[in-house]
Amino acid sequence: MNKETIQAEPFKIKMVEPIRLIPRSEREARIEEADYNVFGLKPEDVYIDLLTDSGTSAMSDRQWAGLMMGDESYAGSRNFDHLQQTIKELMGFKYVVPTHQGRPAENILTAALIKPGQKVPGNTHFDSTMAHILQKKGVPVNLPIPEAMKTDIYHPFKGNVDIKKLESFLEKEKGNTSFFLMTVTNNTGGGQPVSMGNIRKVREITSKYGIPFFFDAARFAENAYFIKEREEGYADKSIREIVWEMMSYADGCTMSAKKDGLVNMGGFICMNDEGLYEQCCEMLILLEGFITYGGLSGRDLEALAIGLQEVVEEDYLRYRIEQVRYLGSRLMDAGIPIINPTGGHAVYVDAKAFLPHIPQSQFPGQVTAVELYIEAGVRSSEIGAVAFARKDEETGEVVYPELELTRLAIPRRVYTNRHMDVVAEGLERVSRRKESVRGLKITWEPDVLRHFMAKFARL
Ligand SMILES: *Cc1c(COP(=O)(O)O)cnc(C)c1O
Repeated sequence: MNKETIQAEPFKIKMVEPIRLIPRSEREARIEEADYNVFGLKPEDVYIDLLTDSGTSAMSDRQWAGLMMGDESYAGSRNFDHLQQTIKELMGFKYVVPTHQGRPAENILTAALIKPGQKVPGNTHFDSTMAHILQKKGVPVNLPIPEAMKTDIYHPFKGNVDIKKLESFLEKEKGNTSFFLMTVTNNTGGGQPVSMGNIRKVREITSKYGIPFFFDAARFAENAYFIKEREEGYADKSIREIVWEMMSYADGCTMSAKKDGLVNMGGFICMNDEGLYEQCCEMLILLEGFITYGGLSGRDLEALAIGLQEVVEEDYLRYRIEQVRYLGSRLMDAGIPIINPTGGHAVYVDAKAFLPHIPQSQFPGQVTAVELYIEAGVRSSEIGAVAFARKDEETGEVVYPELELTRLAIPRRVYTNRHMDVVAEGLERVSRRKESVRGLKITWEPDVLRHFMAKFARL
């Protein structure tokens, strides 16, 4: 890697979208009107939007040019050929099934593979993946390494699966296991990478027990960059070589291209097994559309084909990972507790440690998101008690998630490091007045996925 010179963003800006910081008194009014739920804010009232890295990427001039090359033929679009060729050269899988985003890919693959009652082990399943497994009457099983849950200790590959646990799990459940799913990077665990060594071990064990091995590849390129940077033997390999090796161990993948596809909408499924491909095509036609467009326009397929080539460029990935790291190190320097090390796509503030005087029942993760908006116009999201607390059906008691986090997800190629300074300085100002910050209570909530719609009031 070229460490000789100071590196700035590896692009110049050709088109701009104005953003505006509304006055503090207005921010206070807007968040109150939104019932202290950042999902209720209007984008024009947000200065820097770190709600999600999904579908929020800036496309390149080449991708925009690609949109003009859309072949909107119902069957056999040349853009699909381009996408298929690109994926084959990058990942090496035989078959490509296009979908309009990640979850239809999950829906189709889980429907094809899971028989009722079967287990689906993984490092940590993403929430939509878990929902699709449960909907097919499967049982999602998370087997992360123990370090994954410790926010303050360094481990280079916190996304790894616990190999010993996996082996004893399969020894017991091999007859009752559908497939293994490895999420790269591990989104739920903080965007943490998985090592090549871990992937190789998973291949050995799943082969031994005859279990198919798939990737949830939403952030495959970011994962590859971490392998290059941190794993012995990979420093001199190209990102493409690393991606190729990662994928060579798997039987296929699902992909939300709204992340490392560098597009605003798109996804796909890959596999080597012809029978599985045919099964998936049948469902695709039923749910998404013909096998050469799968719910996308020809122009979208073209932008995705180009995005997949750009996302494995090392200059881009260096900027990407370094920007996340830059924000993380600014926060750590200011004494703000975060998941360490930072992962690929977001910085996660440990809200329990940040606001220790606010109990988890008063939603410190949500409070941090609200205060950061008031302080700096920055939108983040809660990943803690609001999203994940559950009532125990037997005792009626509320069970709180282990981690109480506020996620600062960084869109790809959208912001400069000066924007990151504004975010860090905003949180520093919250930190200086944090003793006076109060908790929240829920005044209304829907039955499912309450974090999107819940209403809050200040205590
Ligand atoms: C976003 C995401 C999904 C779901 O993809 P959508 O495009 O939002 O439907 C699945 N898995 C992971 C790891 C994700 O980050």
